[in-house]
Amino acid sequence: MNAPLPTRREETAAQRWGRFSPISTGEEYVASLRNRGVCVYLFGEKIAEPVDHPIIRPSINALQATYDLAIADPELATAHSPLVNARVNRFLHIVESPQDLVLKNRMQRRMGQLTGTCFQRCAGLDTISVLHSITWDIDQKHGTPYHQRYLDFMREAQCNNVIIGAGMTDPKGDRSKRPHEQADPDLFLHVTARNDRGLYVTGAKAHMTGGLNSHWICIMPTMNMTAADRDYAVVGMVPGDAEGLTYIYGRQSCDTRALEAGDIDKGNARYGGQETLVVFDNVFIPWEHVLLDGEYEFAQPMVARLTAYHRASYVCKTGLGDVMVGAAAAIAEYNGADAASHIKDKLVEMTHLNETIYSSAIASSHEAQQLASGIYMNDEMLANVCKHNVTRFPYEISRLAQDLAGGLMVTLPSQADFEQEETGPMLRKYFQGRPDIPVESRTRILRLIENMTLGRNAVGYLTESLHGAGSPQAQRIQILRGMELERKKGYAQELAGIEIIATDAAAR
Ligand code: SF4
Repeated sequence: MNAPLPTRREETAAQRWGRFSPISTGEEYVASLRNRGVCVYLFGEKIAEPVDHPIIRPSINALQATYDLAIADPELATAHSPLVNARVNRFLHIVESPQDLVLKNRMQRRMGQLTGTCFQRCAGLDTISVLHSITWDIDQKHGTPYHQRYLDFMREAQCNNVIIGAGMTDPKGDRSKRPHEQADPDLFLHVTARNDRGLYVTGAKAHMTGGLNSHWICIMPTMNMTAADRDYAVVGMVPGDAEGLTYIYGRQSCDTRALEAGDIDKGNARYGGQETLVVFDNVFIPWEHVLLDGEYEFAQPMVARLTAYHRASYVCKTGLGDVMVGAAAAIAEYNGADAASHIKDKLVEMTHLNETIYSSAIASSHEAQQLASGIYMNDEMLANVCKHNVTRFPYEISRLAQDLAGGLMVTLPSQADFEQEETGPMLRKYFQGRPDIPVESRTRILRLIENMTLGRNAVGYLTESLHGAGSPQAQRIQILRGMELERKKGYAQELAGIEIIATDAAAR
């Protein structure tokens, strides 16, 4: 292995934490992102201050809402942490019971209702849950110091109330090859050098949710690893402004509307999601922030546990579904069509689909089991069923919302035309629905439905629902593994009066 050029400051954990001040409010969170000097590219240009960029800011606002909710509804969005003996934001809380997971799901639904988008903080939350048990398990086998390092990190994270992003998905290159077999070794993030103070990593994390808006990025393996992939089996905490990081901002459908004047055509002017490609060029991590290094056999359980937590976190989409049901009901009312039985039936169908997602998530949390480290993990099968529902139902909910919205949703003239001296009066005359409803209210709801089904937040409501936390086939594989056909065949054979042979009985 070639040693990297020694061009990075090799800060200790204390030096890295020394740059933080405890965050209490949403406004302080936004302030904490300023003047970090992060290297960000968008539309081919380096962005001087991402916080003030009109395309980026809505994604920051969505994360700000996680701080605001903690103040507005502390019962829901904070929890007592024994680690620091104080209430902490629930997005930083280590789950101690099934009830913690249930409350997490309720908070996620509420956040979806408030923002109508991906609020970006759950993958980090689920990562810290996984790391509690994984670091414990590695230490039991190898005598490593990872669990104590994890607790030390979490103590600081909770006290400073920071955002931790999950850097999981490697670009992966040629899917038929393992990490060490790739033509370009950087297609999976890997260790390039180690010294007395820490290690260096190079590679990238793709479509990383909220990466730029996070204070810390937890890098971790994206799949199971073999002995030959040992240098790719690494978990560590990297500050979002570390030397050697470059963020390249992902485009979203209709994103340039954020650059236009006026707020109506944006659909949801306040909130948006964020995905970036994060490139790591010999980024330094001090040993105190390394939580796995070479224990490749733990990559697989780590990924499996993260998917169990995170697939139930997709309950977030029920909050967005609530917004969609509300938008569909509102546009039906504004059109004067809300009394029609087929309209009511479509709203019932949308609600049924949305609540079906919720029921699988919340059941998964209620059925949580305790792990060896003492924390709880939600039921894997039900979490996969939840996420599989999420790959389908938001599409049908969106189809029904578009059905109720009518074609005007995609033929509506711009806000500028509504405000123009000559065309404005014509548009207000011909786009009047129910006479007691302002035309502007009708256009705003139509734009919101457009935003969530075709525009920027369709990324969060639809495509992220399909591919986030694993594409549909990933859940089907897990469901296949857990469906226990032999046991179920036994139930059938028993009732049918079929003699059960010994090997079948042993399987039960
Ligand atoms: Fe949270 Fe949902 Fe976004 Fe994942 S997709 S980070 S669960 S809001």
